[in-house]
Parts: sequence; structure tokens; C-alpha cells
Amino acid sequence: MHVRGACLAAARAPCSPSRGRRSGTGLIGAMLLPAQPRNDTSRMETFKRWEPVQGIEWPCAGVEISNVTDGLTMRLEFSKVVGGAHRDLLLRFPWGCVVAFPRRALTRRCRMPDPFILDIWRFVRGDTEPREFEQWLYARTNELENCLGAQKALDVLSADYGASAAVADVRKILRAFAEQASSSLRCRCVTLANVAVVEMGSAGDEVLGTIEERRSRGEPWWWLWCGECSRCGQWWLVGQEERQNDFFCLRRLDADEVNDLLQNNVWPSDFDSYESLLRLGHDAGVMFRFADPEQASSLQWTIVDLAKAKPGIRVAELASLLNLEPDTARMLAERAIRDNGVTIQLD
Ligand SMILES: [Zn+2]
Repeated sequence: MHVRGACLAAARAPCSPSRGRRSGTGLIGAMLLPAQPRNDTSRMETFKRWEPVQGIEWPCAGVEISNVTDGLTMRLEFSKVVGGAHRDLLLRFPWGCVVAFPRRALTRRCRMPDPFILDIWRFVRGDTEPREFEQWLYARTNELENCLGAQKALDVLSADYGASAAVADVRKILRAFAEQASSSLRCRCVTLANVAVVEMGSAGDEVLGTIEERRSRGEPWWWLWCGECSRCGQWWLVGQEERQNDFFCLRRLDADEVNDLLQNNVWPSDFDSYESLLRLGHDAGVMFRFADPEQASSLQWTIVDLAKAKPGIRVAELASLLNLEPDTARMLAERAIRDNGVTIQLD
């Protein structure tokens, strides 16, 4: 049996932000139902019913969790479902494979925002096209008026979604509303675009403070890891650009990507090249300038790495990616060609 995979699927399915976790049923509800009288010393808790949840589609008559010598055993009682299967599903979680007992691990997570607020966040952070959002709005005029008040709702509904300045104004109004509506959340995940750039320092600390590293990509991708938010359960691919500009690139991962990554070590390729990080930082306006680029050894390493990853890269491209004056970029490129044997096109 694929115990570890089953453990991950069962434990994480209800925590996906796209699914929400509001009712008393589902995995948490089942966990919190009153325990039945114990009839042996190893049995920890038994529950009368286990409601189907998203990701677990087959109703189950009961679940029994036992504490055995080397781990936890969970029995899902399908055999007691009328017309159901003839056998139960037995899941074993050896000690060391379980980060924490599910009840405690799940209940410390925070509630996700209402789906209405989530849709507003998707637009505010740039993951929904303005014209698409405009159509979404027209179907929710009453809800919008209740949330924003008549005047702001009118401003939002009457805006020109084809004009970038008007869209920016709408985003500003809705961001203020979404921030206030999400003030009880204990992480910043919902505010981040699907691909986001976050500077190191206080802003980065606030975002990264809840994202715990789960796996590192390893060499040669020393900058790449994936992590899970300890508050909302969102998984992120994280690229750490600390050689030139000190920022993080984050890419939201969905459940299939996380499963593929953990089970098969298949990583999304978005941040596989260091150039992709530099380009994202450049586009986000996170660009620092070295006081003395000629003496900055990390700058030289980066130029060599970029040229190795893309032989024939142009000096103008290096200058743009690394925020260098053209003459400085050319001088550093010539040094990299001479000392490291890389191929760079001297424009
Ligand atoms: Zn989070």
C-alpha cells in the first residue's frame, strides 16, 4: 500500500484554498466528533461517521484511529456501508512520516476568506483580466453594494475596464476592502499573485514567515525550493535571488503539482534558470545597483552562470538583467570570456 501518498492526499485535500473549509463536516468535523468508549488500550479515538469531503468521494461508515507501537493506524470502514465495498481501507502512518497528529495540525490553520473575497483578491493581485472581472461584477451588483456601499459600488461598476488608469483606481478601492475583510487571516498568501516577487526584509519576512520549506531542488538549482504555508496550507515554489537583488520569486502550486513534486520529484520549470528570477525582478522594478561592480565577485559569478545557461547571451541583455551600465557590462563580459571561457556576444 502507498501509505505515505495516501496520508498526504487525505490530510491535504480539505486544506486547499480553492475548496474552503467552513462547515462542521468534512475531515475536521469528523475529527472533532465525540470519541466513543475505548475498549482496548491501543485505540485512541473512534468516530461514528465520516462525511464525504471533496477529494474523498466515497461515503464511509466510520473511522477508527489506533495507536500502535510504531505509528498510527486509521481504518476507514467501507464494509459497513450498505451496498458498499466488502473491505475496509487501512492506512498506516509510521512514526517519523507524520509531522503532527492530524487533529492538532489541522485545527491550528486559519479559515480561508469567503469565495467572494477570494475572487476580489484574484483581480486585485492581477490574476484575473479586467474584462473578465467586469463580467463577474455585473452578476454581483447587490453583494457589491452591500460590501462597499452605494457610491464605491457605483464607482467600481461604472469604471472603464479597458483603461489602465481606471483599472488601477478600482484595484485600489477593492484592495482596501479585501484587506479589511481579510484582517483576521494569519498569513499573506491570499494577497500574493500566482507569480509574485517579494523583497527580502520586513515585507519578505511577513510573507515567508509562514512558509515552511518542505523540499529543496538541490544542485545545480541552489536557489530553488518548495514550501507550505503553515497557516493556510498553500504550497509555493520559491526562487531565492540573493546574489544581486535580495528578493524571493514565488509561484503558487496547485494540488496536482504538489503531488507530482512530492511523489515523483517533478518540479515546475518556471524558476529553473537564474535568468528567469532576474527577469521577474527586473519587471517588478526590484533592481539594485552595485556601488563597485568591477569588484563584486558575485556579479562575475552570475554573468558566468548566465552565459553558461545561455551561450551567446548578448551584453545588452546582461546589462538589462543586472542593472549595469553598457560599458561596465561589456568590461565584465570580456573578463568572463577571458577567465572562464564562456561565450558572450559583445554587441
Ligand atoms: Zn498562507
